[in-house]
Amino acid sequence: MTRAGSQEQFKSAVAGWLGVEPDHISLYWKGRVALYTLLKAAGTGPGDEVILPGFTCVVVANAILYLGATPVYADVETDTLQPAAQTIRSLVTERTKAIILQNTFGLSADLDTLVPWARSKGILTLEDCTHGFGGTFQGRPNGTFCDASFFSTQWNKPFSTGIGGFACVTDPMLRNEVEKACRELAHPSAADEFILRTLLLTRRHLLTPATFYTLRNFYRLLSRMGLTIGSSSGGELEDPGMPPGYFKGMGKVQMREGFEALQSLETVLARRKSNGTLFTAFLSGHGKYHVDPAYHANHSFLKYPVLVSDRTAMETAARKAGIELGDWFISPLHPVERHFEKWGLDPASVPVSHHLSRQMMNLPTETRDPNRVTDFLEKNLHLLI
Ligand SMILES: *Cc1c(COP(=O)(O)O)cnc(C)c1O
Repeated sequence: MTRAGSQEQFKSAVAGWLGVEPDHISLYWKGRVALYTLLKAAGTGPGDEVILPGFTCVVVANAILYLGATPVYADVETDTLQPAAQTIRSLVTERTKAIILQNTFGLSADLDTLVPWARSKGILTLEDCTHGFGGTFQGRPNGTFCDASFFSTQWNKPFSTGIGGFACVTDPMLRNEVEKACRELAHPSAADEFILRTLLLTRRHLLTPATFYTLRNFYRLLSRMGLTIGSSSGGELEDPGMPPGYFKGMGKVQMREGFEALQSLETVLARRKSNGTLFTAFLSGHGKYHVDPAYHANHSFLKYPVLVSDRTAMETAARKAGIELGDWFISPLHPVERHFEKWGLDPASVPVSHHLSRQMMNLPTETRDPNRVTDFLEKNLHLLI
């Protein structure tokens, strides 16, 4: 018997969803720490290149830079939000250590083309599955195609522990190294756990469609000021230098919260999927940008991407209508909007990503009332592309 709220219980529950052994799973304070650990365990260091999509979160590039390696950004395609296999192939050099293939909003990368190809070249594949937990690709759970994958359980991810993350390592050699690296993880402090518990309670009791924007702004402000354990401390968005306390494991509060959240995930996933289908039908019916229905069978929809001509006008309208619109990704390195050179990115090298990031917003897929969302879209069709 595993104890309720224990590490074993949470690991087993996660492993069960992924169809892997519990010892394939390792737990972290945040998803980015899982990625950092995977790269470190693989021996990534100065002189190594890591390919990643140029349509991602800055913390992904940070994990690479913290190890002294070089991020190499791949531009994405408008319809899949993924780099074409050919784009990735063209960026590979003899220095390429790893390729990060990212599930974006629930949409998988071209895994069945790229993973076998990378293996034949001796290049490690890592899936950024922070958006993809619970979905499948070619009938297999997301996050089990690559040599290893990492997940996030931050506020807005498939299921939440407030903040948190884990890795799934299928490659046995890498697993050994990850296990070693994990022995060095710091434990969350009593203060860390106290603040997190408070934030979780606040969210449970205060978060409603009416308070969404106010709470989000407040939370982001605190986070920027470094006053809370927000998803990103100010420094992480200004400079690629590792903040103190970064290399930390997952605490008990998170494990308990995560185990509970997994109990209702099935229901949430079904709702996301049916809402995704409805949004596609609406948007394609009006000749607007949408996700091709050919993708639906395989993908979960953490967010549903739409393109708008004026993001500010759209957000104002959404606020008025009480619709929770997301703003992923506002830049190729969300949420950084300037000084991309600090992260080794020339925005001109990812023109499609750059263009998309100016027009993209996301529809909420967890809503129980999707018709309210389509009514809102109907009234604002002139803003949709
Ligand atoms: C959220 C996110 C991460 C990082 O997850 P954290 O748990 O916040 O560290 C990485 N990649 C993508 C694409 C994300 O959206």
